[in-house]
Amino acid sequence: MSADVVVVGAGPAGLTLANLLQRNGIACVVLEARDRSYVEQRQRAGVLDHYGGQIFERAGLAAEVLAGAPVERFLELRYEGKPHLLDVPALAGGRAGWIVPQQMLVRRLLGTFLAGGGDLRFEAREVALHDLTSAPRVTYTDAAGPHEIECSYVAGCDGFHGVSRPSIPEDELTTYTFDHGIGWYTVLADAPPPRYPLMGIGANGFAAQFARGPGASRFYVQYRPGAEDPRAWPDDRTWAELRVRLGDPGLPGGAITDREIVEMRSFVAEPMAYGKLFLAGDAAHIITPMGAKGMNLAIADADVLADALTSALRGDDAALRAYSDVCLRRTWDYQDFSRWFTEMVHDIDGDPFRRRLARARFDRLFTNQAAAAAFADMMAGVELVS
Ligand SMILES: Cc1cc2nc3c(=O)[nH]c(=O)nc-3n(C[C@H](O)[C@H](O)[C@H](O)COP(=O)(O)OP(=O)(O)OC[C@H]3O[C@@H](n4cnc5c(N)ncnc54)[C@H](O)[C@@H]3O)c2cc1C
Repeated sequence: MSADVVVVGAGPAGLTLANLLQRNGIACVVLEARDRSYVEQRQRAGVLDHYGGQIFERAGLAAEVLAGAPVERFLELRYEGKPHLLDVPALAGGRAGWIVPQQMLVRRLLGTFLAGGGDLRFEAREVALHDLTSAPRVTYTDAAGPHEIECSYVAGCDGFHGVSRPSIPEDELTTYTFDHGIGWYTVLADAPPPRYPLMGIGANGFAAQFARGPGASRFYVQYRPGAEDPRAWPDDRTWAELRVRLGDPGLPGGAITDREIVEMRSFVAEPMAYGKLFLAGDAAHIITPMGAKGMNLAIADADVLADALTSALRGDDAALRAYSDVCLRRTWDYQDFSRWFTEMVHDIDGDPFRRRLARARFDRLFTNQAAAAAFADMMAGVELVS
């Protein structure tokens, strides 16, 4: 069979792209390695930034994607137990993000694509990309046996561990990896969400609490990688660490339903294209969760790629040739923001000089209007200006 575009991966990048292409009348097939319930239940990000929301508004998908999603307003930074509130939308000229858990976004995008007659194949195994610099083909296997799809373009939206990036010859890519030297232990718990997204900063280390639905919270706790594995902590220890670091001795505990280690690592592969393969989202870059930009970058890439592929399939490939450069500008901008934010809220190795720098950074946010506005601008998401 054939398609204009084969999209590999049904995460935020692949499903955003598939929906936008569908709206543009471009025939695409989405291949997803996992089954539907796995994809719809994978919990990760929680915030769609203002720019990401606008992508869905422009595409006429806001009613499907954003229905009932609360607007994100205040961010609470609690320094040694003392609360400081940032009204991010007010500082960003009214641009607010939405609280949209990633699994809800994925479920909605998936439903919309399928309701529109989209072709999405779950449990596609052994996906392999061929002839990427001439006439691309994608092969895969499922319960019915092996399949081959001829296509004009392949979109590699299959995350950091997918098959797309490794299909590019190594000497065609420059990769950048940065280890932030911090560990994050994250737990999902049946615990009432905080009033506002909450970050605790102090000499005991960083912790955070974010809403994940009406009766659930995701918590993050900084730990020292290599020295310990917090997944072995008894729940009492986890709650004790959270109470101290969030400056809330009365923080109610609850059943912990998921425990994970988050790699505080950044990665970028350049260029985000090879022949007729275009990488989007985590397939091309990963970023620390500080600033909540991973899912938003994936959606922003997909938006740029959808327009570029549509134009190319209609005869004008200028935007497709610019795709990688355009997306890398935003990627590096967000990497810098995420690193800046990471250094502000973490006590890294208890280094006293770094601690004072971090405090100066923090104070600037609450004493300098321009600095606060610049922070809020990044939180809202950046429209690229050429
Ligand atoms: C614990 C955690 C917390 C996070 N918190 C935030 C946050 O607060 N804010 C934020 O913005 N980001 C956050 N992120 C990052 C965010 O989740 C990712 O950036 C986002 O999922 C990237 O979307 P994607 O579509 O590029 O990749 P993915 O979501 O990884 O989707 C890739 C898809 O491709 C499929 N796939 C993989 N290999 C193949 C293959 N060979 N063939 C076919 N299909 C394949 C996968 O099954 C998957 O469905 C967090 C991540 C983690 C792990």
